[in-house]
Amino acid sequence: MIPIAKPYLTTDEAQSAYDTILTGWVTQGPRVEEFEKRFCEYTGAKYAAAVSNCTTALHLAMIVSGIGEGDEVITPSMSYVASANCIRYAGATPVFGEVDRDTYNLNADHAESLITDKTKAIILVHQLGMPADIDAFRKLSDKYNIKIIEDAACAIGSSYKGKKIGSHSGIVCFSFHPRKVITTGEGGMIATDDESIYNKVKLLRQHGMSVNDRTRHESGKLIFEDHIVLGYNYRMTDIQASIGLRQLEKLDHIIEERRKIALKYIEELSSIECLVLPIEKEGYFSNYQSFSIYLKDSAPLSRNELMQKLLDAGISSRRGVLTAHRETSYRDEYKNLRLPVSEDACDRSFMIPLYVPMDSKDIDHIILTLKHILK
Ligand SMILES: *Cc1c(COP(=O)(O)O)cnc(C)c1O
Repeated sequence: MIPIAKPYLTTDEAQSAYDTILTGWVTQGPRVEEFEKRFCEYTGAKYAAAVSNCTTALHLAMIVSGIGEGDEVITPSMSYVASANCIRYAGATPVFGEVDRDTYNLNADHAESLITDKTKAIILVHQLGMPADIDAFRKLSDKYNIKIIEDAACAIGSSYKGKKIGSHSGIVCFSFHPRKVITTGEGGMIATDDESIYNKVKLLRQHGMSVNDRTRHESGKLIFEDHIVLGYNYRMTDIQASIGLRQLEKLDHIIEERRKIALKYIEELSSIECLVLPIEKEGYFSNYQSFSIYLKDSAPLSRNELMQKLLDAGISSRRGVLTAHRETSYRDEYKNLRLPVSEDACDRSFMIPLYVPMDSKDIDHIILTLKHILK
């Protein structure tokens, strides 16, 4: 069976975790600090604070943006459910925007039509690693004085207009879940160009503690900590960071290999009339965190029938990105909401395997199977 994804982990990461464990310092400490530094160097972000995952990063992004009860935050419904859940954690209301058919990213005109005097922020998701149109949303941010929070869970190493994701706007949240391009098991990062946001995040991720435990540990003088705000335990561990350090070193290689496979899929499958393949517009560079394909009405079978046939041929696939407003935890509250483009894209798209290293025989098998079923 060809899996849908596989993390790129070797003895390098295992050795790095092993070494960290033997230092005796296993939670947030020097490795986390080093990981943050390397992350900034890689992405061009001014500041970066590691956290336990991207969902907690998004939660902290809400808090440091001052979002709370009575506020509205615009987010695409077609995204992983965490892009909406984080708004609910803050007691605010998710307002679901429509996506563009060709990128699955939030449509700026539709988002603008949803802005009210309660709108505090827009969560801009770089779906499946494809950058969203950051400049279009910056214009909205300036015009209406609302914040932009980038959900870049899938987008490490992607770039927009020549600059890496993470270096463009106020708050950018990343994930290191194994389903993403690089992993620390679980893990997340908040990148920002604002020192005060960075300092607030560091406070909130560690119980709101005035002194971090490492400073206290290393101090020759007696220090008592104070808990100055309601904080959380959203720390990354040094074991995770030591894995992340090795993963970052390989990131460019991983992306290069992912792109080779994605471009091969595009080249080989573009002759199948009933498929719509991902497109990378001028100025956009995707890490191809996933490879999603849209199946047109003209296809000889349904999306689910196609996925079953792939499974029968030993090929795993996944349905396209979900729509939050149709998930059970949102359905009742949003029962009158219709988002035709998102719903159609969710119902008619599917993902095929893409990981590094991938056997070229498997790539050929996937291409030939799709051609055979759909021609
Ligand atoms: C994976 C993902 C998340 C959640 O990331 P975790 O690190 O698992 O919390 C959030 N948003 C999007 C768009 C994702 O793909």
